[in-house]
Amino acid sequence: MLGPVILAASRSDAMRRLVSAAPMTKPVVERFIAGETVDEVVPIVKHLTDGGLEVSLDVVGEDITTPERSTAARDAYLELIERLDGLGLGERAEMSVKLSLFGQALPGGHELALANVRPVVEAAARIGTTVTLDAEDHTTLDSMFAIHEELRKDFPETGCVIQAYLFRTEDDARRLAADGSRVRIVKGAYKEPASVAYQDKAAIDKAYVRILKILMEGQGYPMIGSHDPRLIAITQELARRAGRKLHEYEFQMLYGIRGEEQVRLAAEGHRVRVYTAYGTDWYGYFMRRLAEKPANLLFFARSLITK
Ligand code: FAD
Repeated sequence: MLGPVILAASRSDAMRRLVSAAPMTKPVVERFIAGETVDEVVPIVKHLTDGGLEVSLDVVGEDITTPERSTAARDAYLELIERLDGLGLGERAEMSVKLSLFGQALPGGHELALANVRPVVEAAARIGTTVTLDAEDHTTLDSMFAIHEELRKDFPETGCVIQAYLFRTEDDARRLAADGSRVRIVKGAYKEPASVAYQDKAAIDKAYVRILKILMEGQGYPMIGSHDPRLIAITQELARRAGRKLHEYEFQMLYGIRGEEQVRLAAEGHRVRVYTAYGTDWYGYFMRRLAEKPANLLFFARSLITK
């Protein structure tokens, strides 16, 4: 019941100001956000990759309201890539990008987001890695998939995300699997209406498995974004049946969630990528993490009361 309320709050400016300004939020935020600056995130990247994991780095932020902020976001990614170059990790450190941070919702936003993301994809390719386009709410997806297709003409490794809760996703999965794309499949983290998305957890999980099957049997590279133990076991079984070797798909989990499971899967020989978000504009990302697990909210509420 609490999830939808928190998701609604994740888009409220008044709540953003209240939560972001509260000093006691910090310790809770730090569980999910790997620092505010490149200097803070680089040691974490080193720690994770030294431990046998891979990373996808996300400069947090979304729904920006001026073109200047979109170019600032692009520059933040370019600075990050320059720093990653020094670590020599290649594709072990990729980037995740939200197109709304690159101006997608502004007037002329489709072209603006494409213009901003292209140099990031080019810079990533120069250091031997790539970029995955995150999936945001359903109204943004046609534009995201069109940008993905455009980028893949020059950079076929560019990935994108699909969300199991949307009715459209099985068709998207078929198209992307036939095209040989890198695709991250997730359950979906936004508040979506019943006209476009399953609302029931069991229905979402069933759709996830159907999509997983399409991806595993297709030509592309499936990236399984989930912490759900059942889906992780089903992935392993479907990969085996599709004749995929361990490095022909990967697991992805979020920084701060099920860290021991990440290490366990990597020790079994799986590729495990940790989605590592950092930056100052963490509010929307943080609220979605609270919405996914009510216990996080209790932990957060307790930290407010006991300070
Ligand atoms: P759930 O059934 O929600 O969780 C399974 C178990 O995982 C829970 O029982 C709990 O133990 C643990 N868990 C899950 N979430 C949390 C949490 N927040 N805190 C603590 N424990 C938790 N969504 C999008 O809409 N677009 C994206 O681009 C996107 N990118 C993602 C990238 C990655 C790498 C991952 C892992 C997720 C991404 N998501 C994205 C979020 C996703 O849609 C889900 O909201 C999220 O992963 C929770 O679903 P789950 O599959 O882990 O299953």
